[in-house]
Amino acid sequence: MADAEWLKRHIRDIADFPTPGIVFRDLTPLLGNVEAMRFTVDALVDAFAGRRVDKVVGVEARGFILAAPVAYRLGAGFVPVRKPGKLPWRTETEEYALEYGVDRLEMHSDGLGAGEAVLVIDDVIATGGTARATVQLIERLGATVAGLGFAVELTLLAGREKLGGYDIVSLVTYE
Ligand code: AMP
Repeated sequence: MADAEWLKRHIRDIADFPTPGIVFRDLTPLLGNVEAMRFTVDALVDAFAGRRVDKVVGVEARGFILAAPVAYRLGAGFVPVRKPGKLPWRTETEEYALEYGVDRLEMHSDGLGAGEAVLVIDDVIATGGTARATVQLIERLGATVAGLGFAVELTLLAGREKLGGYDIVSLVTYE
């Protein structure tokens, strides 16, 4: 039966990647399996189907893979959030803290219109820093966040706490 436990069997745990101490949740087996990929996209779509979504924002790079089919199925446009220097037009930039140092995310300044309802999709929510910066970019452009959807949530890292007040859906959780 297709449920969260079944979906988990299509996620591969890689110890010490990309650095020692990190367990990387590798979604490539899920993406390569037609039933698991379809279940993931459909479950994210179903979670937000009742509400207005004008745009789906996907976060570079693995977020793009799920956000694009979710956008297509919701009848919404797709807008990329990217690492610095990748987007060719005028951008808004948001800086966010990493464990050591800072990183930046960018979105085209005209990617969202004021008042648009925006769904954020990424593969994994860990500390929530990426999602938080993405929400800030969306709101700076005058759009509103309809919700955030993730295939995987790493609950011990408490990403949700950085995103109080937003509607967050994750399909699979790990401590
Ligand atoms: P964070 O900003 O800490 O919530 O990290 C989220 C981003 O980092 C997502 O875009 C994920 O793709 C990636 N990420 C963080 N931790 C992991 C992990 N353990 N396994 C796979 N991807 C991860």
